[in-house]
Amino acid sequence: STSKPPIQRVLLKLSGESFCQSGQSGLSVPEIVLIAEQIKRVVASGVQLAVVCGGGNILRGRDLDGFKQTILPATAHYMGMLATVINGLALLDTLESLGVPARLQSAIRMEGVAEPFIRRRCIRHLEKGRVVILAAGTGSPFVTTDTAAALRSREIDATLLIKATRVDGVYSSDPLKNPHAVKYSEISYQDVLRQNLGVMDAQAIHHCMEQNIPIVVLNYQKSGTIERAIAGERLGTRVST
Ligand code: UDP
Repeated sequence: STSKPPIQRVLLKLSGESFCQSGQSGLSVPEIVLIAEQIKRVVASGVQLAVVCGGGNILRGRDLDGFKQTILPATAHYMGMLATVINGLALLDTLESLGVPARLQSAIRMEGVAEPFIRRRCIRHLEKGRVVILAAGTGSPFVTTDTAAALRSREIDATLLIKATRVDGVYSSDPLKNPHAVKYSEISYQDVLRQNLGVMDAQAIHHCMEQNIPIVVLNYQKSGTIERAIAGERLGTRVST
């Protein structure tokens, strides 16, 4: 038959470290170009793509934990959310420079810089083939952009959540600390929670579990991994029921 496969709507979570060079902080334009080129190929294949940006390359709320007397934890987390907007702007222009139509939506209102996040508008952009970059996390302090990614996945009915990091999957323990750590090719949401594996925080896992959204954790630096995972190839780790 000639029936087309159903349209996929993927949410890609990019950690802040994908915006800088390994082991560094701040922004690296060549690194952002590498990510944008992968995104371009994914969109060219007809996939609808929303991107949630992390901010750890600039600032994480808990980085300022030692200064609680001076900068309140909530403020520090708002600073972290603003960091994700900086990454979002960088990715927005980089995508456009490659000819990829894109929009930036922020969970914190900033009219001069980004559209507000409006669920229906976000979906409309996706349907028109635009990449929607979602910045400022959830707009509320004390949670991570992983939770924001899971929440937005539910809201926009994503068929897949990809967590792109510098590790190539979920391990039984930290592979940098334990040489005997084994990588799972597949694992259930429940096992991730039970074993307290540091893939994503429990809130994020719960959201995906409740709506049965599979998560693929992969190393985006290995060329083509994002589009291969979307095409159904088994790489990294797949977290599902
Ligand atoms: N953040 C927040 N609320 C959110 C999402 C993020 O307060 O909904 C803050 C939090 O302080 C976090 C920072 O923004 O540390 C940057 O995000 P994250 O650490 O998740 O970035 P990543 O680890 O992906 O680089």
